[in-house]
Amino acid sequence: MSRHIKPRMKMVTSQLISRGITDEKVLKAMEKIPRHLFVDEGLHDQAYADNPLPIGERQTISQPYIVALMTEALELTGHEKVLEIGTGSGYQAAILAELADRVFSIERIASLADRARKVLDSLGYYNVLIRVGDGTYGWKEESPFDVIIVTAGAPHVPKTLFDQLTVGGRLIVPTGDRHTQKLLKLTRTSNELDKAETKDLGGCRFVNLIGEYGWKG
Ligand code: SAH
Repeated sequence: MSRHIKPRMKMVTSQLISRGITDEKVLKAMEKIPRHLFVDEGLHDQAYADNPLPIGERQTISQPYIVALMTEALELTGHEKVLEIGTGSGYQAAILAELADRVFSIERIASLADRARKVLDSLGYYNVLIRVGDGTYGWKEESPFDVIIVTAGAPHVPKTLFDQLTVGGRLIVPTGDRHTQKLLKLTRTSNELDKAETKDLGGCRFVNLIGEYGWKG
């Protein structure tokens, strides 16, 4: 038995269930997916700890609780077409691949996208398509999406992404300054961003969303 199974089960009970994550499908996916494979070998023993970890290029894999919180808020049923901005390690994409139909993920740093692709292939997540580029433009050819998840902190909700949602679709985006953000969940009810149903899921700390409709550099 892999020495990572116990820490992974413990992560689910002590970090997720204890903090109020109840969606069984999210908990099962996080019990199943070998998070350690998404970080460097030297960090394998820290992969199930209650914090983000470096993945190179000054980027991070998010804290397990934040991944669970965001995923639960997406309310996935298995049929959705999902867009993720910020592939990073590919871990969040793997969780989405377990819980939705198809996942499109955009990463601005090619070396991270390459590494994520390899890990996802090795685990058989062929329903994830990764593209290198500025995700603040979204992925117009594949739109609309039932769900869009931004895993980097934005200065404001990118209207470009809102426009690529289905009516009834959900957008999760950390919004704030460069250091701390609020995790916002918007549900599209019409064509107007101002009229979207908006919920604040709490404070968070993400690396910057850098791009045309994010931070400049
Ligand atoms: N979801 C990731 C966490 C990634 S950290 C995981 O599970 O590991 C945020 C990522 O967003 C970084 O890899 C960063 O390079 C990327 N990023 C930042 N701005 C971006 C943009 N405009 N388009 C695409 N990716 C972006």
